[in-house]
Amino acid sequence: MIYLDYSSTTPISYDVLESFNKVSKEYIGNPNSLHNLGIKAKDLIDTATNQIGELLNISPQEIIYTSGATEANNLALIGVALANQKKGKHIIVSKLEHPSIYKICEYLETLDFKISYVDLTEDGLVDFDDLKKKIKSDTILVSICAVNSETGVRQPLKMIRQIVKKENKSCLIHSDMTQSLGKISLNLKDVDLASFSIHKVYGPKGIGILYKNENVKIIPIIHGSSKKNELHPGTPATPLIAAASKAIRLATQDLDRRETFIKRLNEKIIKELSNYKDIKINKTKYSIPHIINISLMNIKPETFIHAMEEYEIYLGTNTACSSGELSASVMAIYNDKKRASTTIRISLSYLTTTDEINQFLTHFKTVYNKLNTLIAV
Ligand code: PMP
Repeated sequence: MIYLDYSSTTPISYDVLESFNKVSKEYIGNPNSLHNLGIKAKDLIDTATNQIGELLNISPQEIIYTSGATEANNLALIGVALANQKKGKHIIVSKLEHPSIYKICEYLETLDFKISYVDLTEDGLVDFDDLKKKIKSDTILVSICAVNSETGVRQPLKMIRQIVKKENKSCLIHSDMTQSLGKISLNLKDVDLASFSIHKVYGPKGIGILYKNENVKIIPIIHGSSKKNELHPGTPATPLIAAASKAIRLATQDLDRRETFIKRLNEKIIKELSNYKDIKINKTKYSIPHIINISLMNIKPETFIHAMEEYEIYLGTNTACSSGELSASVMAIYNDKKRASTTIRISLSYLTTTDEINQFLTHFKTVYNKLNTLIAV
């Protein structure tokens, strides 16, 4: 099997799974219980949370566990909106967000919030002049994805922060950092809130994190009995939290060396695929090397993906959360429907080998040549 859909999800690392199993077996108490077993589980959660705080350079009080990045995005946007609606009801997002952000925005519109979509430059960056123009005195939140999940375009969050805070000091900044963690180094000082998903960093599915600066107030979106975990009530998931801490530690080490290796694989793929007359590479100078997006132009992506599957090669269409639809990100950058409706995503990992890429390119050629003569979109 050749797995090239790492941006959709990653296989759980052996060490992380070991931790998950050990904690599941040995820490059976409810961390909210007062007895010894509860205290033992609570202590483990505190240790794991302190470690995550150190790894992300934030304080443990700023970490809220969620079920994944979708929930973290919901808590951030709805939580900020509800807490700040007396100040204003205007929110700005980019045109390169994950579909979950747009769905949340649709929901907030039903509550009379106004959403603005900031323009992009031709390289896919947030257009600073447009952002400046769109920030008003009633703008309560700007949410900009750190790395776009489809094209890998990375946004300059530090500069975005400077612009936002200069125009409106009290406006908060959220970033969906799901595709950044474990790929690039992050500075959470650039934002007030950030979303993460642990299954993207070789951890288990079912856990995410919302970073919330301790001075930021938000309203919970899930209501329950626990006073300590007011923003995510219920029984804390001890094994998932311990596994998350280990996954983040393993995924954030050696970033530079891993990136150099992935960049080499990326260049090999791009060089080869650039030779195909009808293939367009959806890459700007700000795309990170881990994510390669191409448009097949004359071939339906679903057909191509299933044909590659015959060789046990697994690729992605735009994002797993909106497969089969037009790629909103490619449309936003290139404004070309055909290009946006024929995208596939090849996402790489430090686990990917040169041999896998050689095999991928060989089978790609066979499948492409076969389908290109057979199928017109
Ligand atoms: N945001 C981004 C940028 C993503 O890539 C994803 C996963 N496709 C999500 C949010 C949703 O993450 P989760 O599966 O943890 O809800």
